[in-house]
Amino acid sequence: KSVVAIVGRPNVGKSTIFNRLVGERISIVEDVPGVTRDRIYSEAEWLNHHFNLIDTGGIDLSDEPLIVQIREQAEIAIQEADVIIFLVNGREGITAADEEVAQLLYKSNKPVVLAVNKIDNYEMQDLLYEYYALGLGQPFPISGTHGLGLGDVLDETVKYFPTDLSTEDDDDRIHFSLIGRPNVGKSSLVNAILGEGRVIVSDLAGTTKDAIDTDFNRDERDFKIIDTAGMRKRGKVYENTEKYSVLRALKAIERSDVVLVVIDAEEGIIEQDKKIAGYAHESGKAIVIVVNKWDTVDSKQDRMKKFEDDIRQQFQFLSYAPVVFLSAKTTKRIHTLMPKVIEASENHAKRVKTNVLNEVVEDALAMNPTPSIKGQKMKILYTTQVATKPPTFVVFVNDPSLMHFTYERFLENRIREAFGFEGTPIKIRARQRS
Ligand code: GDP
Repeated sequence: KSVVAIVGRPNVGKSTIFNRLVGERISIVEDVPGVTRDRIYSEAEWLNHHFNLIDTGGIDLSDEPLIVQIREQAEIAIQEADVIIFLVNGREGITAADEEVAQLLYKSNKPVVLAVNKIDNYEMQDLLYEYYALGLGQPFPISGTHGLGLGDVLDETVKYFPTDLSTEDDDDRIHFSLIGRPNVGKSSLVNAILGEGRVIVSDLAGTTKDAIDTDFNRDERDFKIIDTAGMRKRGKVYENTEKYSVLRALKAIERSDVVLVVIDAEEGIIEQDKKIAGYAHESGKAIVIVVNKWDTVDSKQDRMKKFEDDIRQQFQFLSYAPVVFLSAKTTKRIHTLMPKVIEASENHAKRVKTNVLNEVVEDALAMNPTPSIKGQKMKILYTTQVATKPPTFVVFVNDPSLMHFTYERFLENRIREAFGFEGTPIKIRARQRS
């Protein structure tokens, strides 16, 4: 998916425009406690183009001097986006800060759409001309508060989307990424994983020039680790902000088949881990939980069991994800990781036979008949798998409003037991069929 970033100095109206562009999608709250999608990154759609939108203004750099903030935000946009919407305030004319941003954008060679905000009516159109001086082409008049002109900006934006987005999908490599808070050992783990295999570092065509994926081969299987460069390269001010790391994680998750949620055994599970795990869960990708730094835990007693119990309790929504304990530093138990990654990836892409699936559902029904709701009983007519990645099932019933979530959970468990979907979420939907 293409990525569009909005940049501009503070108070030009970035958040208003962002909210307008993403509409109601803005705060997708899942039925997972404490999980809300971050407001700086959201899906948006225009004329059948689905893309991700970033509000760089939402990355909190407020401790920095204004000029540093503005520069860093422009850098984020240049780094992360395929197309940049540069927003200026039509009522204030070009400021020194606008010029600074314009220069960075100009040098980056990224496509830029210049939007002049606060042009609330036709009479104000004359204010546009001076913005040609920024050297970024035609300025588009918009009004965030009145919602005017956004269509033209989006028309212009989607023109720059790369057309060939299919290459990654028909690749049979297993794409995976490592996410987790700073210092849990992600980079060390990448090195430990690669230490075992043949490494080919490849530039990633079409996306940001700094993202470097690593391809490697092990036991006849091909893998791709997504965006490890982002972990290795550090130094910019914004790279230490939490929202930026969330943004990086979301982008990496999106391009992955399997997501490794890395936890630090030495420090245990903290709130931030839960948040990160929540993002992984929401994505519908396959997940493996990795407990790193296991060398720091004494091997006596049943520590592993205790730690796993703790994970199960804190990450209830990830009950399908296997847990692997290892040490990136000593490489102890590291051989247990890739088999789980492979298994999770295979289960994520698994398609089951319709006749077997219906037998499983019939057996489940016989064991635990559908409950009556207000004197009415849900009838299950048949079940079919409509998608993979993640496996998605549609249960055709007489009346979908009679499907209770506890019954859905029960069906999910039966399907999991019958087919073995370890490592992947599965989705069940009830649909009407009389
Ligand atoms: P990242 O921020 O998640 O990429 O974490 P790093 O890979 O940079 O590691 C953070 C720190 O933890 C470094 O000092 C590592 O040496 C240390 N570390 C990483 N893995 C292990 C491990 O398995 N055991 C121990 N004891 N330390 C580790």
